[in-house]
Amino acid sequence: MKKTCIFQDTEKTENTTDLLEVADRIYGPGQFESHAVLFADSFDRLCGSFHHIIRVAEGIVDRYDPRGICDILENLHKKSGFDSILIPGTSMGQMIAPRLAKRLQTGLVAGVTDIKNQGDHIEIIRPACSGKILESVLHKGDGPLMMSIRPNAFAYTPGDSLQTVVFAYTEPVKSCSAVTRLHVRKNQHTCDIRDSDVLIAGGGGVKESFSKLYGLAEALNGTVAASRKLVDQGIAPRSIQVGQSGKTVSPKLYMALGIHGSMQHMAGLRQIESVISVNTAVNAPVCSLSDIVVQGDAKEFIDRLMKKIAVYRS
Ligand SMILES: Cc1cc2nc3c(=O)[nH]c(=O)nc-3n(C[C@H](O)[C@H](O)[C@H](O)COP(=O)(O)OP(=O)(O)OC[C@H]3O[C@@H](n4cnc5c(N)ncnc54)[C@H](O)[C@@H]3O)c2cc1C
Repeated sequence: MKKTCIFQDTEKTENTTDLLEVADRIYGPGQFESHAVLFADSFDRLCGSFHHIIRVAEGIVDRYDPRGICDILENLHKKSGFDSILIPGTSMGQMIAPRLAKRLQTGLVAGVTDIKNQGDHIEIIRPACSGKILESVLHKGDGPLMMSIRPNAFAYTPGDSLQTVVFAYTEPVKSCSAVTRLHVRKNQHTCDIRDSDVLIAGGGGVKESFSKLYGLAEALNGTVAASRKLVDQGIAPRSIQVGQSGKTVSPKLYMALGIHGSMQHMAGLRQIESVISVNTAVNAPVCSLSDIVVQGDAKEFIDRLMKKIAVYRS
């Protein structure tokens, strides 16, 4: 039985299980033993999803200390001999993954967005050269297969609940921490498009009226996103770009206003419940993937919808 180690998602603990989908694709469902490494306060709801949960005991390491966390993962690997180590591609994960790979003298595939099991070999897919190409990587050699996984790229559908064995990790870490935590301020309002349930996305068809999307997003309690066309033209910031060279998103509602639906744009959409597209051309590729298609001018659509919302609220 293969052994996979999954480090917790440091931004959204509940997303930790998504990395089980990666292991499923590599080894096949039920063909591996899963070991999750979690901080003590975040393990309750993940019980039942993993075979083993290793709870890092309170006070062993600061959760913002990548060196200390690497000590723990390195030590666990030495004891258990994992076949793969999966780290979420969060900002914290991106600090841990290369450090750990260096210590274990193994390679790292960073920012993985897809896994293809080709029978006799596994293809690990990641965007490379600033998203200009999709690179296919093969794993060779004896070291553990190490990857950092792009947030939202995989979604795990829970199966039967497992009998989880919980183990407390209490060994003090060796590395001298370079981190002194002064205080932690919780981000009340995050504008990360990956966190929003409602995305109001604009493309070339709204380049003149892009600012109107902010009003609509506010009215629908959503966040504005954009295609690369608007980003390249300097109309939208790169941080809100959806797609192969942007972010992968999985909102409940994706409203595509004046977006064509190129392959590279659609590569950034995963597990979306509903898509509404507004386009002057109904043969645009995004329309065939939409639940509702509105044929017409997107600016006019926004104006009319805003009026309806105002009437509804008054
Ligand atoms: C290596 C590489 C990586 C890429 N990565 C990304 C990426 O991450 N994300 C991304 O988005 N793109 C990416 N692209 C670019 C991608 O190929 C497309 O060029 C881009 O997505 C097109 O953006 P768009 O659909 O907004 O614009 P357009 O292609 O210009 O489409 C505009 C759409 O709006 C419609 N329209 C026009 N006027 C109106 C109107 N008044 N009202 C309503 N609809 C209207 C048109 O019918 C059309 O369907 C990448 C390309 C390459 C080569």
